[in-house]
Amino acid sequence: MKKIIVAGGGASGMAAAITAARNGAAVTVLEKKEQVGKKLSVTGNGRCNFSNRTMSADFYHGNDASFAARVISRFTVKDAVDFMHSVGILETEKNGGLYPVNLQAQAVTGALYAEMKRLNITVVTGADVTGVKRNEKGFTVRTTAKDYSADAVILALGTEAGVRDKNPYTAVKILKALGHHVYPQKPVLTQLYGKNGTEDWWNGVRMTGAVSYNGVTECGELQLTREGISGIPVFQISHSVSEALRSEKEAVVCLDLIPEYTEEELREFFKMRAAAAGKDGVTAEEILQGVLPRKMIPVASKKAGFKRDARIYEQLDSGAENLIKTIKSFPYTVCGTGDMSMAQAASGGVDTREIKDTMESVKIPGLYVTGELLDIDGACGGYNLHFAWSTGVLAGEDASCAGGTK
Ligand SMILES: Cc1cc2nc3c(=O)[nH]c(=O)nc-3n(C[C@H](O)[C@H](O)[C@H](O)COP(=O)(O)OP(=O)(O)OC[C@H]3O[C@@H](n4cnc5c(N)ncnc54)[C@H](O)[C@@H]3O)c2cc1C
Repeated sequence: MKKIIVAGGGASGMAAAITAARNGAAVTVLEKKEQVGKKLSVTGNGRCNFSNRTMSADFYHGNDASFAARVISRFTVKDAVDFMHSVGILETEKNGGLYPVNLQAQAVTGALYAEMKRLNITVVTGADVTGVKRNEKGFTVRTTAKDYSADAVILALGTEAGVRDKNPYTAVKILKALGHHVYPQKPVLTQLYGKNGTEDWWNGVRMTGAVSYNGVTECGELQLTREGISGIPVFQISHSVSEALRSEKEAVVCLDLIPEYTEEELREFFKMRAAAAGKDGVTAEEILQGVLPRKMIPVASKKAGFKRDARIYEQLDSGAENLIKTIKSFPYTVCGTGDMSMAQAASGGVDTREIKDTMESVKIPGLYVTGELLDIDGACGGYNLHFAWSTGVLAGEDASCAGGTK
């Protein structure tokens, strides 16, 4: 019976372990935390957005994005749903995003754990993997407590994204010691920080808005904080902003504070309100109170250089025009991103040119790398978990069948 060690009991590790065990391998999962799937249990705000009906390589970033295209063609959305069914999870769909029907991420972790137990997979928690050595017989996997031997090893160690852990993160060191090239890991799907003088004013506002950067516009709930801007639309552009901040000190994103209306519709509304007010016109504040969240009125007015009590007349002057333009394209200068512990994913990771489509290392036969540890990161919407299941299942299949040292 082939002996497989899965290092890391997160999403991809559990998928790999279950798949390998279903194929008849003797599987041991080494997880450094006190339980498996801790991150999985908090995904999607506790609801676990595990995949997405709208699947394409465009939702993935990496130095070799064609790798993601190959992975998702080998493990489709239907495969992800079938995998969930096979462990007892029924799905529901919201705007393309797939979730467990009971909307409980913990139920997904529980189902995967139950399946691992049913398959007699050995799960060792509190097992901090510190190194992997290839030898004549196979592999030795070193933990702080003891060494384990295996015919094949699946490294499913994830990244530090969203993790607050006192123990050092060793995955990169392990991979580099094995001769792999690892791109630096950076936080993505995270908030963006700025010091624009607006942050104290808008702190706590949640509003429907859009944010644009580099020709990409994302719409949804914006969360405006004392540090900057957050929310799913911000997460979606955070990868390209984070890239830009590697070479530039600042990046300017553009906020649309009322995406449901065009600039022209807003202009007509301003004119209508001013006309209804008669010859004395109407103040900016009076118009904006029906347009923006209250806290955003001074923010937008100040940015546009328009006094809140200044009057707007039916014939809009350049000040009023400027106010309309500012509401529709509010420039916001970003100087940083949230750190790893606040991010939902990390860019960078193991160079996928050194990984076969089976997730086996090109350099070390019998060694597999899965999930976020690879240099691929997905958009918000279930894409990272889809990649975790995909790479886990592909690695588990190959390690237990054709690949590996035996
Ligand atoms: C708050 C939050 C919400 C998210 N929501 C979603 C969502 O709804 N949809 C989505 O698609 N993605 C979401 N993600 C991203 C998704 O959770 C990850 O991309 C996915 O879990 C990656 O799977 P993985 O197996 O590569 O890593 P992980 O799931 O992180 O698993 C890695 C495991 O390895 C263990 N480990 C690390 N080092 C060692 C070591 N040295 N020895 C032993 N064990 C070790 C870790 O403790 C962990 O259990 C979210 C992330 C966060 C932080």
